[in-house]
Amino acid sequence: MFKILHPDMCVNSVLDIPVEELRQNRITSFILDLDNTMTEWNSNEVRPEIIAWVDKLKETGGKACIVSNNKESRVKAVAHILDIPYVCRAGKPLRRAFRRALEQVGSLPEETSVVGDQVFTDVLGGNLMGMLTILVSPLNPREFFGTRIFLRNLERLVRRPKMKIESRTL
Ligand SMILES: [Mg+2]
Repeated sequence: MFKILHPDMCVNSVLDIPVEELRQNRITSFILDLDNTMTEWNSNEVRPEIIAWVDKLKETGGKACIVSNNKESRVKAVAHILDIPYVCRAGKPLRRAFRRALEQVGSLPEETSVVGDQVFTDVLGGNLMGMLTILVSPLNPREFFGTRIFLRNLERLVRRPKMKIESRTL
């Protein structure tokens, strides 16, 4: 039940994503949430280790795109720092948000992973698209009040992976 809300994988942060292992399973593109995934909530500062992670991903042939429901000025600023494309006011979990990102990076759903800290936007949307979903722990507990109270309590019910990546047939 609620399988559509379960991520394929849970990690602490993007830094813990097993990029090499995913590459062996032909997943080379990453659709990245912004708030609490790549930056702290509503902050334009990106930690140096996260910039380095994106740089390494690109150097090794990987692709990345930020997809955020946040406004353009903010999403664009962070995308510029990371030098990757972006989709703002995306309307996650709607599928069109992710389709726009796939167009930006020129990737297919089966070679793309959706990475984010929220079950009801990132994980649900990625699962609706049939993409591998990776749930990260929020970078910072400070976030929009409504998200904190309502969604986080619901997320607690589903915050476990539906299967391990090793057992996934790709
Ligand atoms: Mg987020």
